[in-house]
Amino acid sequence: MDTGVRQLAELIAASEQIVAFTGAGVSTESGIPDFRSPGGVWDRYGPINYQDFLRDPESRRETWRRGLHTYPVVAAARPNPAHAALVELERLGKLRAVVTQNIDGLHQAAGHDPERVVELHGNAHGVRCLECSANFSRADVQRRVLEGEDEPACSACRGVLKPTSVSFGEPMPLEAVRRAEREARASDLCLVVGSSLVVFPAAYIPRYAIEAGAELAIVNATETPLDDVAAVVVRGRAGELLPEAVALARGLIRPLTNGSG
Ligand code: NAD
Repeated sequence: MDTGVRQLAELIAASEQIVAFTGAGVSTESGIPDFRSPGGVWDRYGPINYQDFLRDPESRRETWRRGLHTYPVVAAARPNPAHAALVELERLGKLRAVVTQNIDGLHQAAGHDPERVVELHGNAHGVRCLECSANFSRADVQRRVLEGEDEPACSACRGVLKPTSVSFGEPMPLEAVRRAEREARASDLCLVVGSSLVVFPAAYIPRYAIEAGAELAIVNATETPLDDVAAVVVRGRAGELLPEAVALARGLIRPLTNGSG
């Protein structure tokens, strides 16, 4: 047994207000590549900037073309044991919130109370009109692209449509950012799972938790800039190590007594 896993289990057992902070690495075992690992998204595509999307029809067409390759991967993905382990923390009454940089919706699909999931970078399953704010399902809009519309327009007002995931250079959703900071500051343990912790401003979230006195635990395949200040670092695959730690923690939590004895 990895000693880090045991230490993580002890930390989880001793905590009551855990905030999980997740990144692309929690979903790689569901078949969605991350950005920075070899073979990740950056090896295949450069980013499309929000300003370019707004002003340049070719950037919009490129967004929808790429979506034909990338969205089916996200749409077909199913939660893995790392997502399930976080749901187990919620069932144990220990989880305040999951703050995620992911856009795949897999935390909700795993069975969290959706109110507990805070999405900092939006969600890939929706599309919104930038003119009239009408909402559409991504699957429906993708179908239109497949049928030959290279730049699908809003069916209500003919305005520009955009996936509800946050693009590079696009402001993050303010309400989610504010809530994520509040949750982090109210936590007693920030549990980072599968994030390089180099994408800002999202990566401020674990720093807010530390600033407010929480412990930090990191489950990640590679080094992060916060490893030195973490109480525990577990290096490896989240889908294997996190369920182990949560199962151990469950055994460490004292059963509730009925008060009669
Ligand atoms: P990142 O690509 O920068 O880092 C992912 C980290 O996860 C890396 O450090 C990697 O070593 C680690 N990792 C990969 N597989 C792992 C596994 N099985 N177990 C444990 N660790 C693993 O991702 P990030 O920190 O989330 O930041 C980049 C941006 O990526 C975010 O803004 C997010 O919106 C976006 N993104 C999201 C998805 C998704 O929704 N699934 C996919 C790709 C990118």
